[in-house]
Amino acid sequence: MDQQYKDLLIKQQYRIYNDHAAVKLCHWMKESMLHERHCYKQDFYGIESHRCLQMTPAINECSHLCSFCWRVQGSDFEVKEWAEPKEMLDALINEQRKLIQGFKGDPRCDRKRFEEAMNPNQVAISLAGEPITYPYLSEFLKECHSRGMSTFLVTNGTYPERMASLETLPMKTYVTVAAPNEEVYRKVCRPKIKDGWQKIMQTLELMPSLDTSTVIRHTLVKGHNLGWVDEYAALDKIAEPELIEPKGYVFVGGSRMRLSMDCMPSFQEITDFANELGTRVGMEIIRQREDSRVVLLGHPGQELDVRKVHGQKLSD
Ligand code: SF4
Repeated sequence: MDQQYKDLLIKQQYRIYNDHAAVKLCHWMKESMLHERHCYKQDFYGIESHRCLQMTPAINECSHLCSFCWRVQGSDFEVKEWAEPKEMLDALINEQRKLIQGFKGDPRCDRKRFEEAMNPNQVAISLAGEPITYPYLSEFLKECHSRGMSTFLVTNGTYPERMASLETLPMKTYVTVAAPNEEVYRKVCRPKIKDGWQKIMQTLELMPSLDTSTVIRHTLVKGHNLGWVDEYAALDKIAEPELIEPKGYVFVGGSRMRLSMDCMPSFQEITDFANELGTRVGMEIIRQREDSRVVLLGHPGQELDVRKVHGQKLSD
């Protein structure tokens, strides 16, 4: 990893392991520790924000340069030697334990909550890069599940072969579909690969057969990819996801150099989009979080608690 890039990441409170894996405390993890405010995934899926390990096993590569991405972009590099999954998980948990020491003496942080946070039970494999490129991802997921840790993976869909090759799948798999067609895709996701759109189509076709809770996330940027409801619906019908998350772009991090505040859709615009999409795919809004500009499309009465839906993957 380029030293300048590493210094920048450490300055932004990333902690790096073996030059390709990283952990960083999530905003909501900290909010949950100090103010008992938690992320929308705690509301929707029953995870515990204060026990969440926000990490990536592959900070070194992403096939996109999405305009809405908050992360540091453009420093891809080849990994010389990939870490073993067990040692990597141990190392990142230890790094997180060091990162939260500051909460220990803080009167706003409940002692029991601090002790729980020292033992993460949720892994958000979405920090940066494309986690699916980590060659031992299946073993890593198995290791997490064997420790009773739930797993959420976010991918941009351009690695269908990797997805198909996973023997162990995450408990929840997010595929980000941030464009209704190839033309908009090229403008918004700025792919580094020629056949990115075709790859995403292959991933959508693969999704109905996957043994995991599948979610399509539409990250919506006003004036860029918000709209085209019929085309988004057609894509969602291919994937037959368990759930769909239309989510508004948020003006944060590196994206501020590429987009403006006006690109953030209002919650009403997200809800309107979701209602229209829902009528076309036979779903309706079953959860929502205004402060996170996100709604959840699914079926009324659908079980959402990730440990109830895919708890069989876990062995405490
Ligand atoms: S699930 Fe995501 S948003 Fe929630 S605490 Fe973990 S990293 Fe943060």
